[in-house]
Amino acid sequence: MSDLRQPAGPDLHAIFGIDGAPEKVADPMISAHSGSADVGLEGGSENGFESYGEVGEGLGTTLESGAEVELEVERAADDDWEEEADAAEQPVEPSPTGHEPGWSGITRPSRRGSSSRFLTDVIIAMQLATARQVEDAIETSRSSGSPPERILLDQGAITHDGLARALAERYGLDHLDLGVFQVDMSAANLVSTTIAKRYQAVPVAFADKRTLLVAMADPSNVLAVDDIAIMTGHEVRVAVAPPDDITALISRLDRLEDVVGNSTEEQQAEEDAEVVALHESDEDAPVIKLVNQIVAQAVERGASDIHFAPDGKETRVRFRIDGVLQDITTVPRRMAAGAVSRVKIMAELDIAEKRLPQDGRIGLVVDGRHVDLRVVTLPSVHGEGIVMRVLDKSNVVVDMEKLGMADHERERFEHSCQETHGAVLVTGPTGSGKSTTLYAALQMLNTPEKNIITVEDPVEYEMAGLTQVQVSNKTGLTFATGLRAMVRADPDIIMVGEIRDKETAQIAIESALTGHLVLSTLHTNDAPSAITRLIEMGVEPFLVASALECVVAQRLARMLCPSCKRRMIIPAKVLQDSGYKAVMELEAYEPVGCRRCGGSGYRGRVGLYEVMKISPEIQTMALERRPAEVMRDLAVSQGMVRLRDDGLNKVRMGRTSMAEIARVIGTN
Ligand SMILES: [Zn+2]
Repeated sequence: MSDLRQPAGPDLHAIFGIDGAPEKVADPMISAHSGSADVGLEGGSENGFESYGEVGEGLGTTLESGAEVELEVERAADDDWEEEADAAEQPVEPSPTGHEPGWSGITRPSRRGSSSRFLTDVIIAMQLATARQVEDAIETSRSSGSPPERILLDQGAITHDGLARALAERYGLDHLDLGVFQVDMSAANLVSTTIAKRYQAVPVAFADKRTLLVAMADPSNVLAVDDIAIMTGHEVRVAVAPPDDITALISRLDRLEDVVGNSTEEQQAEEDAEVVALHESDEDAPVIKLVNQIVAQAVERGASDIHFAPDGKETRVRFRIDGVLQDITTVPRRMAAGAVSRVKIMAELDIAEKRLPQDGRIGLVVDGRHVDLRVVTLPSVHGEGIVMRVLDKSNVVVDMEKLGMADHERERFEHSCQETHGAVLVTGPTGSGKSTTLYAALQMLNTPEKNIITVEDPVEYEMAGLTQVQVSNKTGLTFATGLRAMVRADPDIIMVGEIRDKETAQIAIESALTGHLVLSTLHTNDAPSAITRLIEMGVEPFLVASALECVVAQRLARMLCPSCKRRMIIPAKVLQDSGYKAVMELEAYEPVGCRRCGGSGYRGRVGLYEVMKISPEIQTMALERRPAEVMRDLAVSQGMVRLRDDGLNKVRMGRTSMAEIARVIGTN
């Protein structure tokens, strides 16, 4: 924990938001720090910060879900990221942060304002301890000199969180569950960590333009409230949180202050040209810190995209997490232009050019992890916005078994991938996990006796043993030219990031017919449409029919949080309305929301799949240019499980919800 200079104005020292994902709070680095904090951590576990399965993120399984497999985060595994910028502005759920009605993790008092009751009476009234325990504690306090609530704590009769709830009720204030509440880093930034520690108080949100919501362990510390009001120039609305939660939050803020910079320095020698130095002169310090914090938080939370969206007054910062956009913070107008310029400088873009879109990349190391940001600027009527796609190079490639494919489907897919020639296509919209599936296949096929070449945009995972080529607009290396060159390099297996034009389609199909296994992706909603799409692109139907081995359509659905999901009954009517031929109700689960899932009710994602083997009958239909629906019905009769049915299976297994299936597939 560094000693901070304390300038006259509000110190925008790097303070950072807790993210509502308690497993992150269990990070060993946090534990190391919290030992030096002012406040003791006695009895820390009742706040749910006890160590909990998975600290790392990326692709993996949770310990808790046992045999359950999942795609935890798919951030690096998307396809054409440019489309993200267009497709991005559709939040599916209201954000937990931002304006007051959307806050989660906050408990209102039964009445506002101090109730002039004794705290001990409130503890009894709230049934946090029995009247007998409280009377004994009052008795003991007379002789020992410590207050009764302290004695109750020491005896283990009440928890720190229980006491915080009682304090909130006693003073008529809100209680905050910092494990769930999403801290706004622009607010947290207004107070230095030194001050935060001294007062055990952290601003966690803007209640309105003039008022900060400040989490405090001791709401009766009037001096602290006054000081924070003067320092920040805001009114202060106090909310109560347990001291260990506040200590954990401050430690986190403190740690995150340094992660981006320090790690970058270490890496500087290695990647001098590539990695942008994040330590710069102090002139723009507040803006630089804010941008660094936003990026660090995005990586920590496993966000796939970071959006800076100006609305004419301020700039909203949003993260896409598990495929869903969430409001994270608001950058005030006076800093917004600086923040955008800062990102442009990091991406080596022309900061004077504000009217035309530009794109670039930033390579950096966040907390020891190599992260690539693909940056695009979006001039809008409200000012210049930015979308950054986060490509975490340290992401682990998942095994085939962990994709979440049903056994039968997986066997068919694996079998097709083991052919010596032919094309295997994975289809779905942007962000549906297509690349993850292809990388899993490549990993399975990656043996020394196979020459595997890829052409990708961008290279998302670097895999040992492969020759990976990155598409580049600057040098004119397109999928088509890259592919043409690859074919001459004697490959056994070719992976083309995406087929999006006739030329690429043509070469890919021809390669598949001339002794190569070709893996690629296409943008279609279901598997049979891949055939009609290729024909529409201008590839001869007989080439498509003879080259295609297998088409997989897929989506990613958020998985229900195993800690809080709730058993429920889906009436047959609802199933029918969703397009299923159901006569009976279905027992399944619905999302609830707890501190482990940040209140969303979901944690991680699972793939939904539709695997279509190209049978002789389907080949004939392709030759006859039959519509996709006709081929679909035939494929289903030959054993293909449709995406929506795989979705329903995963609802029945309790892994996801009907609402998620409707969200990612629709109700047709
Ligand atoms: Zn939960």
